[in-house]
Amino acid sequence: MKTQKNDAEWTLLIKAAKSRLHHRVISPFVEAGNVAAAIMTDQGNIYTGVCIDTSCSLGMCAERSAVANMITCGESRITRLVCIKGNDIVGSPCGSCRELLMQLDRNSGDIEILTDQNNLSSVKLKQLVPDWWAEGLFETVENWNWLDRDDDD
Ligand SMILES: [Zn+2]
Repeated sequence: MKTQKNDAEWTLLIKAAKSRLHHRVISPFVEAGNVAAAIMTDQGNIYTGVCIDTSCSLGMCAERSAVANMITCGESRITRLVCIKGNDIVGSPCGSCRELLMQLDRNSGDIEILTDQNNLSSVKLKQLVPDWWAEGLFETVENWNWLDRDDDD
């Protein structure tokens, strides 16, 4: 559904991602910032991250960098995600990031991912992860009672 609130949130996320999007050389082995991501949580907070490219496969995507930032700050429920690549192009999460996002929360399939910054169109994460391998397992795992989460639902 397209509403002014939705548009305002997308605009905030796009602006947040673009504010982090600039290539920088950290060292002879590490570069960062060619891709930037911004996520909005169910609390309305925005977390950003940039891709970190290394010479030893220890880097991470912008989306995972933003997720790490969010988790560090104590949140884990994402409602929206924007990824901006160089040349101002909207990106889509890679397979690894899609999987991590799906595992974060039982409602992660409903995360809206921007697909076009001109008309602010989006897709839901579950559209990008059809037939997810762990579909329905959240309930089973939560019944094990080893997940001690604050859950007001
Ligand atoms: Zn990724």
